[in-house]
Amino acid sequence: MADTVTMDKIVSLSKRRGFVFQSSEIYGGISSSYDYGHYGVLLKNNVKNQWWRSMLQERDDVVALDSAIIQHPQTWVASGHLAGFTDPLVDCRTCKLRFRADHLDVSACGRKPSKRPGASDECDLTEARDFNLMFETTIGPVKEEGATVYLRPETAQGIFLNFRNYLQFSRKRPPFGIAQIGKSFRNEITPGNFIFRTREFEQMEMEFFVAPGEAQRWFEHWLTEREAWYTRLGIRPDHLRLRAHDPDELSHYSSATSDVEYLFPSADSVGAGRWLELEGIANRGDFDLTQHAGHSGQKLEYVDTASGDRYVPHVIEPAAGADRAMLAFLVDAYDEDEIGGEARTVLRLHPQLAPVKAAVLPLVRKDGQPELARRVYAELRERMQTEYDEGGAIGRRYRRQDEIGTPYAITIDHQSLQDDTVTLRDRDSLEQARVAIGELGDELQRRLRAPWRSPKLA
Ligand code: ATP
Repeated sequence: MADTVTMDKIVSLSKRRGFVFQSSEIYGGISSSYDYGHYGVLLKNNVKNQWWRSMLQERDDVVALDSAIIQHPQTWVASGHLAGFTDPLVDCRTCKLRFRADHLDVSACGRKPSKRPGASDECDLTEARDFNLMFETTIGPVKEEGATVYLRPETAQGIFLNFRNYLQFSRKRPPFGIAQIGKSFRNEITPGNFIFRTREFEQMEMEFFVAPGEAQRWFEHWLTEREAWYTRLGIRPDHLRLRAHDPDELSHYSSATSDVEYLFPSADSVGAGRWLELEGIANRGDFDLTQHAGHSGQKLEYVDTASGDRYVPHVIEPAAGADRAMLAFLVDAYDEDEIGGEARTVLRLHPQLAPVKAAVLPLVRKDGQPELARRVYAELRERMQTEYDEGGAIGRRYRRQDEIGTPYAITIDHQSLQDDTVTLRDRDSLEQARVAIGELGDELQRRLRAPWRSPKLA
Protein backbone atom coordinates (compact mmCIF):
# COMPACT_ATOMS: atom_id res chain seq x y z
CA MET A 1 0.00 0.00 0.00
CA ALA A 2 1.52 3.36 -1.01
CA ASP A 3 2.25 5.60 1.94
CA THR A 4 0.65 9.02 1.69
CA VAL A 5 1.76 10.22 5.09
CA THR A 6 3.81 13.38 5.59
CA MET A 7 4.80 15.14 8.79
CA ASP A 8 2.64 18.10 7.75
CA LYS A 9 -0.42 15.84 7.64
CA ILE A 10 0.37 14.46 11.11
CA VAL A 11 0.79 17.95 12.57
CA SER A 12 -2.47 19.08 11.02
CA LEU A 13 -4.45 16.01 12.12
CA SER A 14 -2.96 16.30 15.61
CA LYS A 15 -4.30 19.81 15.93
CA ARG A 16 -7.63 19.24 14.18
CA ARG A 17 -8.49 16.20 16.27
CA GLY A 18 -7.04 17.34 19.59
CA PHE A 19 -3.93 15.18 19.94
CA VAL A 20 -1.24 17.86 20.16
CA PHE A 21 -1.36 21.67 20.17
CA GLN A 22 1.39 24.25 19.91
CA SER A 23 1.93 25.46 23.48
CA SER A 24 0.97 29.03 24.47
CA GLU A 25 -0.57 29.59 21.06
CA ILE A 26 -2.60 32.63 22.12
CA TYR A 27 0.69 34.39 22.90
CA GLY A 28 2.17 33.44 19.57
CA GLY A 29 3.46 30.07 20.73
CA ILE A 30 6.73 29.10 22.37
CA SER A 31 9.24 27.36 20.21
CA SER A 32 9.11 23.58 20.34
CA SER A 33 6.78 23.32 23.34
CA TYR A 34 3.63 21.30 22.86
CA ASP A 35 0.49 20.63 24.84
CA TYR A 36 -1.17 17.24 24.63
CA GLY A 37 -4.91 17.41 24.02
CA HIS A 38 -7.49 14.84 25.10
CA TYR A 39 -6.69 12.16 22.51
CA GLY A 40 -2.96 12.83 22.79
CA VAL A 41 -3.15 12.21 26.54
CA LEU A 42 -5.04 8.96 26.00
CA LEU A 43 -2.67 7.79 23.25
CA LYS A 44 0.51 8.64 25.15
CA ASN A 45 -0.88 6.99 28.30
CA ASN A 46 -1.51 3.84 26.29
CA VAL A 47 2.06 3.93 24.93
CA LYS A 48 3.41 4.30 28.46
CA ASN A 49 1.10 1.62 29.82
CA GLN A 50 2.28 -0.80 27.14
CA TRP A 51 5.85 -0.05 28.13
CA TRP A 52 5.07 -0.65 31.81
CA ARG A 53 3.24 -3.81 30.85
CA SER A 54 6.23 -5.19 28.93
CA MET A 55 8.64 -4.21 31.73
CA LEU A 56 6.65 -5.09 34.84
CA GLN A 57 3.60 -7.21 34.23
CA GLU A 58 5.15 -9.60 31.72
CA ARG A 59 8.44 -10.05 33.63
CA ASP A 60 9.42 -10.69 37.21
CA ASP A 61 12.91 -9.21 37.12
CA VAL A 62 12.06 -5.49 36.76
CA VAL A 63 10.65 -3.14 39.40
CA ALA A 64 9.32 0.42 39.17
CA LEU A 65 10.54 3.81 40.37
CA ASP A 66 9.39 7.43 40.12
CA SER A 67 12.30 9.60 41.24
CA ALA A 68 12.46 13.38 41.66
CA ILE A 69 13.14 15.73 38.76
CA ILE A 70 15.38 17.90 40.93
CA GLN A 71 18.16 15.86 42.50
CA HIS A 72 21.27 16.67 44.50
CA PRO A 73 23.55 18.70 42.18
CA GLN A 74 26.42 16.31 42.87
CA THR A 75 24.46 13.77 40.81
CA TRP A 76 25.39 15.64 37.65
CA VAL A 77 29.00 16.06 38.65
CA ALA A 78 29.32 12.31 39.18
CA SER A 79 27.39 11.36 36.05
CA GLY A 80 29.57 13.61 33.91
CA HIS A 81 26.66 15.77 32.73
CA LEU A 82 27.93 19.00 34.29
CA ALA A 83 31.25 18.73 32.52
CA GLY A 84 30.28 16.93 29.38
CA PHE A 85 26.57 17.01 28.51
CA THR A 86 27.19 19.46 25.73
CA ASP A 87 26.46 19.93 22.09
CA PRO A 88 28.76 21.83 19.75
CA LEU A 89 27.19 25.24 19.18
CA VAL A 90 28.00 27.46 16.23
CA ASP A 91 26.71 30.96 15.53
CA CYS A 92 26.23 32.38 12.10
CA ARG A 93 27.66 35.89 12.02
CA THR A 94 25.54 36.77 9.00
CA CYS A 95 22.06 35.49 9.77
CA LYS A 96 22.56 35.50 13.56
CA LEU A 97 21.05 32.06 13.94
CA ARG A 98 22.50 29.33 16.12
CA PHE A 99 23.05 25.75 15.07
CA ARG A 100 24.31 22.45 16.34
CA ALA A 101 27.54 21.90 14.44
CA ASP A 102 26.76 18.20 14.01
CA HIS A 103 23.23 18.92 12.72
CA LEU A 104 24.16 21.51 10.12
CA ASP A 105 23.00 19.37 7.25
CA VAL A 106 19.55 19.25 8.85
CA SER A 107 19.36 22.94 9.71
CA ALA A 108 20.72 23.70 6.25
CA CYS A 109 22.40 26.92 7.28
CA GLY A 110 23.87 28.56 4.23
CA ARG A 111 21.86 26.38 1.91
CA LYS A 112 18.41 27.71 2.56
CA PRO A 113 17.60 31.41 2.30
CA SER A 114 17.07 32.75 5.80
CA LYS A 115 13.63 34.11 6.58
CA ARG A 116 15.19 36.98 8.50
CA PRO A 117 15.00 40.33 6.72
CA GLY A 118 18.32 41.38 5.34
CA ALA A 119 19.97 38.04 6.02
CA SER A 120 22.26 36.65 3.44
CA ASP A 121 22.25 33.08 2.10
CA GLU A 122 26.00 32.80 2.74
CA CYS A 123 26.45 31.87 6.23
CA ASP A 124 29.58 32.77 8.11
CA LEU A 125 29.97 30.30 10.99
CA THR A 126 31.97 30.72 14.18
CA GLU A 127 34.11 27.92 15.59
CA ALA A 128 32.04 25.35 17.49
CA ARG A 129 31.98 25.75 21.26
CA ASP A 130 30.50 23.51 23.93
CA PHE A 131 27.02 24.38 25.12
CA ASN A 132 25.67 22.54 28.20
CA LEU A 133 22.14 21.29 27.64
CA MET A 134 21.07 21.20 31.28
CA PHE A 135 18.48 23.72 32.49
CA GLU A 136 19.66 25.47 35.63
CA THR A 137 17.47 26.83 38.36
CA THR A 138 17.86 27.80 42.01
CA ILE A 139 16.42 26.11 45.03
CA GLY A 140 15.03 28.03 47.99
CA PRO A 141 14.05 31.69 48.33
CA VAL A 142 17.53 33.21 47.99
CA LYS A 143 19.64 33.11 44.86
CA GLU A 144 22.85 32.36 46.68
CA GLU A 145 25.89 30.33 45.93
CA GLY A 146 25.31 26.63 46.30
CA ALA A 147 21.62 26.98 45.50
CA THR A 148 22.01 25.98 41.85
CA VAL A 149 20.20 22.82 40.85
CA TYR A 150 19.33 21.27 37.51
CA LEU A 151 16.24 19.89 35.88
CA ARG A 152 17.20 16.30 35.13
CA PRO A 153 18.31 15.77 31.51
CA GLU A 154 17.56 12.03 31.79
CA THR A 155 15.65 9.82 34.20
CA ALA A 156 18.45 7.23 34.44
CA GLN A 157 20.45 8.90 37.22
CA GLY A 158 17.53 8.74 39.67
CA ILE A 159 17.70 4.97 39.24
CA PHE A 160 21.41 4.75 40.10
CA LEU A 161 20.89 6.94 43.19
CA ASN A 162 18.30 4.44 44.42
CA PHE A 163 20.29 1.28 43.64
CA ARG A 164 21.03 0.57 47.33
CA ASN A 165 17.41 1.08 48.39
CA TYR A 166 16.32 -1.46 45.82
CA LEU A 167 18.85 -4.09 46.89
CA GLN A 168 17.51 -3.73 50.42
CA PHE A 169 13.75 -3.58 49.98
CA SER A 170 13.02 -5.43 46.76
CA ARG A 171 14.97 -8.64 47.51
CA LYS A 172 16.15 -8.53 43.90
CA ARG A 173 19.63 -9.64 42.91
CA PRO A 174 21.32 -9.28 39.54
CA PRO A 175 20.12 -9.78 36.92
CA PHE A 176 17.34 -7.30 37.70
CA GLY A 177 16.15 -3.94 36.45
CA ILE A 178 14.62 -0.70 37.70
CA ALA A 179 12.28 1.10 35.32
CA GLN A 180 10.95 4.61 35.31
CA ILE A 181 8.93 6.97 33.15
CA GLY A 182 9.15 10.69 33.64
CA LYS A 183 9.86 14.14 32.27
CA SER A 184 13.37 15.13 31.27
CA PHE A 185 14.63 18.52 30.15
CA ARG A 186 17.29 19.49 27.63
CA ASN A 187 18.00 22.95 26.37
CA GLU A 188 18.35 21.65 22.80
CA ILE A 189 20.03 24.07 20.40
CA THR A 190 17.93 23.03 17.45
CA PRO A 191 14.69 21.45 18.60
CA GLY A 192 12.13 20.65 15.96
CA ASN A 193 10.34 18.15 13.80
CA PHE A 194 7.13 18.55 15.84
CA ILE A 195 7.28 16.50 19.07
CA PHE A 196 10.36 14.58 17.89
CA ARG A 197 12.84 16.92 19.56
CA THR A 198 11.58 19.25 22.27
CA ARG A 199 13.16 20.83 25.34
CA GLU A 200 10.77 19.08 27.70
CA PHE A 201 9.89 15.45 27.01
CA GLU A 202 9.08 12.15 28.61
CA GLN A 203 11.50 9.27 28.80
CA MET A 204 10.89 5.59 29.45
CA GLU A 205 14.15 4.21 30.81
CA MET A 206 15.20 1.00 32.45
CA GLU A 207 18.55 0.16 34.02
CA PHE A 208 19.25 -3.57 34.08
CA PHE A 209 21.95 -4.63 36.57
CA VAL A 210 23.91 -7.76 35.71
CA ALA A 211 27.09 -9.63 36.71
CA PRO A 212 29.98 -8.21 34.61
CA GLY A 213 30.48 -11.41 32.63
CA GLU A 214 26.83 -11.44 31.54
CA ALA A 215 26.58 -7.93 30.12
CA GLN A 216 26.95 -8.84 26.46
CA ARG A 217 24.27 -11.53 26.63
CA TRP A 218 21.80 -9.16 28.29
CA PHE A 219 22.65 -6.38 25.86
CA GLU A 220 21.59 -8.67 23.01
CA HIS A 221 18.49 -9.76 24.93
CA TRP A 222 17.32 -6.15 25.31
CA LEU A 223 18.02 -5.31 21.66
CA THR A 224 15.67 -8.09 20.61
CA GLU A 225 13.05 -7.28 23.23
CA ARG A 226 12.88 -3.60 22.50
CA GLU A 227 12.74 -3.93 18.74
CA ALA A 228 9.94 -6.50 19.10
CA TRP A 229 7.95 -4.14 21.36
CA TYR A 230 7.48 -1.65 18.53
CA THR A 231 6.53 -4.20 15.90
CA ARG A 232 4.16 -6.00 18.27
CA LEU A 233 2.36 -2.69 18.70
CA GLY A 234 1.94 -2.25 15.00
CA ILE A 235 5.04 -0.57 13.56
CA ARG A 236 5.75 -2.11 10.17
CA PRO A 237 9.06 -4.03 10.36
CA ASP A 238 10.41 -2.44 7.17
CA HIS A 239 10.08 0.99 8.84
CA LEU A 240 12.12 -0.05 11.86
CA ARG A 241 15.77 -0.95 12.19
CA LEU A 242 18.51 -1.45 14.75
CA ARG A 243 21.65 0.55 14.07
CA ALA A 244 24.85 -0.10 16.00
CA HIS A 245 26.86 3.02 16.90
CA ASP A 246 30.26 3.41 15.30
CA PRO A 247 33.12 3.46 17.84
CA ASP A 248 33.50 7.26 17.44
CA GLU A 249 29.77 7.79 18.18
CA LEU A 250 29.83 5.93 21.49
CA SER A 251 29.36 7.88 24.71
CA HIS A 252 32.35 7.92 27.06
CA TYR A 253 30.61 5.42 29.39
CA SER A 254 29.42 2.94 26.78
CA SER A 255 31.15 -0.06 25.26
CA ALA A 256 28.25 -0.78 22.89
CA THR A 257 25.11 1.11 21.89
CA SER A 258 22.48 0.40 19.27
CA ASP A 259 19.62 2.67 18.35
CA VAL A 260 16.14 1.59 17.38
CA GLU A 261 15.39 3.82 14.41
CA TYR A 262 12.17 4.57 12.58
CA LEU A 263 11.86 5.75 9.00
CA PHE A 264 10.07 9.09 9.47
CA PRO A 265 8.48 10.76 6.45
CA SER A 266 9.49 14.22 5.29
CA ALA A 267 7.40 17.30 6.02
CA ASP A 268 5.79 17.26 2.59
CA SER A 269 5.41 14.72 -0.16
CA VAL A 270 8.47 16.05 -1.99
CA GLY A 271 11.28 15.30 0.45
CA ALA A 272 12.71 11.90 1.35
CA GLY A 273 12.11 10.05 4.60
CA ARG A 274 14.82 9.85 7.26
CA TRP A 275 15.87 7.17 9.74
CA LEU A 276 15.75 8.76 13.19
CA GLU A 277 16.34 7.46 16.71
CA LEU A 278 13.42 6.28 18.81
CA GLU A 279 15.43 4.60 21.50
CA GLY A 280 19.03 3.89 22.48
CA ILE A 281 20.11 0.60 24.04
CA ALA A 282 23.50 0.90 25.73
CA ASN A 283 25.92 -1.26 27.62
CA ARG A 284 27.02 1.29 30.25
CA GLY A 285 29.40 -1.08 32.05
CA ASP A 286 29.97 -0.15 35.70
CA PHE A 287 30.49 3.53 34.92
CA ASP A 288 27.49 5.01 36.75
CA LEU A 289 27.61 2.98 39.95
CA THR A 290 31.37 3.45 40.21
CA GLN A 291 31.05 7.20 39.69
CA HIS A 292 28.30 7.61 42.28
CA ALA A 293 30.16 5.39 44.74
CA GLY A 294 33.25 7.57 44.31
CA HIS A 295 31.41 10.86 44.72
CA SER A 296 29.09 9.80 47.54
CA GLY A 297 31.50 7.66 49.50
CA GLN A 298 28.85 4.93 49.65
CA LYS A 299 29.42 1.35 48.56
CA LEU A 300 27.35 0.61 45.49
CA GLU A 301 27.98 -3.04 44.88
CA TYR A 302 26.29 -6.38 45.10
CA VAL A 303 27.40 -8.93 47.66
CA ASP A 304 26.28 -12.49 47.16
CA THR A 305 25.67 -13.70 50.71
CA ALA A 306 25.95 -17.37 49.71
CA SER A 307 29.26 -17.24 47.82
CA GLY A 308 30.68 -14.09 49.35
CA ASP A 309 31.29 -12.72 45.82
CA ARG A 310 31.13 -8.96 45.57
CA TYR A 311 31.07 -6.91 42.40
CA VAL A 312 29.85 -3.64 40.92
CA PRO A 313 27.07 -4.70 38.53
CA HIS A 314 27.26 -3.73 34.89
CA VAL A 315 24.26 -1.97 33.41
CA ILE A 316 22.27 -2.45 30.22
CA GLU A 317 20.00 0.51 29.49
CA PRO A 318 17.11 0.66 27.05
CA ALA A 319 16.25 4.41 26.94
CA ALA A 320 13.18 5.35 24.94
CA GLY A 321 11.18 8.53 24.44
CA ALA A 322 7.43 8.41 25.06
CA ASP A 323 6.76 11.35 22.74
CA ARG A 324 8.91 9.97 19.94
CA ALA A 325 7.31 6.55 20.27
CA MET A 326 3.85 8.12 20.14
CA LEU A 327 4.85 10.09 17.04
CA ALA A 328 6.12 6.95 15.32
CA PHE A 329 2.89 5.09 16.14
CA LEU A 330 0.84 7.99 14.77
CA VAL A 331 2.86 8.24 11.58
CA ASP A 332 2.84 4.50 10.98
CA ALA A 333 -0.91 4.30 11.54
CA TYR A 334 -1.85 7.18 9.25
CA ASP A 335 -3.71 6.09 6.15
CA GLU A 336 -6.04 7.45 3.51
CA ASP A 337 -8.59 5.45 1.55
CA GLU A 338 -12.01 5.79 -0.01
CA ILE A 339 -15.39 4.59 1.12
CA GLY A 340 -18.17 4.77 -1.42
CA GLY A 341 -16.22 7.29 -3.47
CA GLU A 342 -15.54 9.51 -0.43
CA ALA A 343 -12.02 10.13 0.84
CA ARG A 344 -11.34 9.04 4.38
CA THR A 345 -8.40 9.58 6.73
CA VAL A 346 -7.95 6.75 9.17
CA LEU A 347 -5.50 6.01 11.97
CA ARG A 348 -4.87 2.29 11.85
CA LEU A 349 -3.55 2.23 15.40
CA HIS A 350 -3.07 -1.02 17.26
CA PRO A 351 -6.31 -1.45 19.24
CA GLN A 352 -4.32 -1.48 22.49
CA LEU A 353 -2.92 1.95 21.63
CA ALA A 354 -6.09 3.52 20.23
CA PRO A 355 -7.21 6.41 22.47
CA VAL A 356 -10.84 5.31 22.31
CA LYS A 357 -11.73 1.64 21.92
CA ALA A 358 -15.40 1.92 20.99
CA ALA A 359 -17.89 4.59 19.95
CA VAL A 360 -21.63 4.16 20.53
CA LEU A 361 -23.74 5.86 17.89
CA PRO A 362 -27.55 5.90 17.67
CA LEU A 363 -28.53 5.97 13.99
CA VAL A 364 -31.15 8.67 14.58
CA ARG A 365 -31.85 10.98 17.46
CA LYS A 366 -35.37 9.72 18.08
CA ASP A 367 -37.57 6.58 18.50
CA GLY A 368 -35.86 5.57 21.74
CA GLN A 369 -32.50 4.99 20.00
CA PRO A 370 -30.52 7.58 22.05
CA GLU A 371 -31.89 6.12 25.29
CA LEU A 372 -30.85 2.56 24.39
CA ALA A 373 -27.51 3.79 23.07
CA ARG A 374 -26.82 5.59 26.35
CA ARG A 375 -27.50 2.38 28.27
CA VAL A 376 -25.06 0.46 26.05
CA TYR A 377 -22.53 3.28 26.48
CA ALA A 378 -22.89 3.26 30.27
CA GLU A 379 -22.13 -0.48 30.37
CA LEU A 380 -19.20 -0.37 27.97
CA ARG A 381 -17.41 2.54 29.61
CA GLU A 382 -17.06 0.44 32.75
CA ARG A 383 -14.77 -1.81 30.74
CA MET A 384 -12.98 0.41 28.22
CA GLN A 385 -12.52 3.99 26.99
CA THR A 386 -15.77 4.60 25.11
CA GLU A 387 -17.41 7.59 23.44
CA TYR A 388 -21.04 8.43 22.85
CA ASP A 389 -21.94 10.56 19.84
CA GLU A 390 -25.44 11.31 18.59
CA GLY A 391 -24.83 14.50 16.58
CA GLY A 392 -24.87 14.67 12.77
CA ALA A 393 -25.02 12.20 9.92
CA ILE A 394 -23.84 8.68 10.75
CA GLY A 395 -21.20 8.78 7.99
CA ARG A 396 -19.62 11.87 9.49
CA ARG A 397 -19.58 10.32 12.93
CA TYR A 398 -17.82 7.20 11.58
CA ARG A 399 -15.29 9.44 9.82
CA ARG A 400 -14.53 11.30 13.03
CA GLN A 401 -13.89 8.05 14.91
CA ASP A 402 -11.74 6.74 12.02
CA GLU A 403 -9.59 9.86 12.25
CA ILE A 404 -8.86 9.31 15.93
CA GLY A 405 -8.28 5.60 15.33
CA THR A 406 -11.26 4.12 17.21
CA PRO A 407 -11.22 0.42 16.23
CA TYR A 408 -14.93 -0.27 16.80
CA ALA A 409 -18.12 1.67 16.20
CA ILE A 410 -21.40 0.37 17.60
CA THR A 411 -24.57 1.51 15.91
CA ILE A 412 -27.97 1.38 17.55
CA ASP A 413 -30.73 1.25 14.94
CA HIS A 414 -34.40 0.46 14.57
CA GLN A 415 -33.78 -3.28 14.83
CA SER A 416 -31.82 -2.82 18.09
CA LEU A 417 -35.03 -1.80 19.85
CA GLN A 418 -36.77 -4.94 18.66
CA ASP A 419 -34.16 -7.65 19.20
CA ASP A 420 -31.48 -6.16 21.46
CA THR A 421 -28.73 -6.42 18.86
CA VAL A 422 -26.37 -3.76 17.52
CA THR A 423 -24.07 -3.37 14.54
CA LEU A 424 -20.37 -3.66 15.27
CA ARG A 425 -18.26 -1.95 12.61
CA ASP A 426 -14.58 -2.69 12.24
CA ARG A 427 -12.45 0.39 11.44
CA ASP A 428 -10.05 -1.51 9.16
CA SER A 429 -12.06 -4.19 7.38
CA LEU A 430 -15.28 -2.12 7.49
CA GLU A 431 -17.10 -5.37 8.17
CA GLN A 432 -20.32 -5.01 10.09
CA ALA A 433 -21.46 -7.78 12.42
CA ARG A 434 -24.72 -8.07 14.30
CA VAL A 435 -24.00 -8.67 17.99
CA ALA A 436 -26.36 -9.16 20.94
CA ILE A 437 -26.12 -6.29 23.44
CA GLY A 438 -25.61 -8.80 26.26
CA GLU A 439 -22.48 -10.15 24.52
CA LEU A 440 -21.08 -6.87 23.28
CA GLY A 441 -18.60 -6.17 26.10
CA ASP A 442 -17.08 -9.65 25.99
CA GLU A 443 -16.95 -9.64 22.20
CA LEU A 444 -15.14 -6.29 22.16
CA GLN A 445 -12.66 -7.38 24.80
CA ARG A 446 -11.97 -10.57 22.89
CA ARG A 447 -11.31 -8.59 19.72
CA LEU A 448 -9.16 -6.02 21.51
CA ARG A 449 -6.96 -8.73 23.00
CA ALA A 450 -6.55 -10.73 19.79
CA PRO A 451 -3.14 -10.60 18.03
CA TRP A 452 -3.14 -7.67 15.66
CA ARG A 453 -1.35 -7.00 12.40
CA SER A 454 -1.34 -3.67 10.60
CA PRO A 455 -3.69 -3.85 7.60
CA LYS A 456 -1.13 -1.65 5.83
CA LEU A 457 1.03 -4.78 5.64
CA ALA A 458 -1.51 -6.65 3.53
P1 ATP B 1 19.35 12.51 20.03
O1 ATP B 1 20.64 11.94 19.46
O2 ATP B 1 18.17 12.39 19.13
O3 ATP B 1 19.54 13.86 20.64
P2 ATP B 1 20.03 11.08 22.38
O4 ATP B 1 20.85 9.97 21.83
O5 ATP B 1 20.68 12.22 23.03
O6 ATP B 1 18.98 11.56 21.27
P3 ATP B 1 19.24 9.65 24.70
O7 ATP B 1 20.03 10.46 25.62
O8 ATP B 1 19.73 8.28 24.35
O9 ATP B 1 18.94 10.47 23.36
O10 ATP B 1 17.74 9.58 25.25
C1 ATP B 1 16.94 8.44 25.10
C2 ATP B 1 15.67 8.76 24.34
O11 ATP B 1 15.02 9.91 24.88
C3 ATP B 1 15.88 9.10 22.87
O12 ATP B 1 16.02 7.94 22.09
C4 ATP B 1 14.58 9.82 22.56
O13 ATP B 1 13.53 8.92 22.31
C5 ATP B 1 14.31 10.56 23.85
N1 ATP B 1 14.77 11.95 23.71
C6 ATP B 1 16.02 12.43 23.90
N2 ATP B 1 16.07 13.74 23.67
C7 ATP B 1 14.81 14.13 23.32
C8 ATP B 1 14.20 15.37 22.96
N3 ATP B 1 14.90 16.52 22.95
N4 ATP B 1 12.88 15.39 22.65
C9 ATP B 1 12.15 14.24 22.68
N5 ATP B 1 12.67 13.05 23.02
C10 ATP B 1 13.98 12.98 23.33
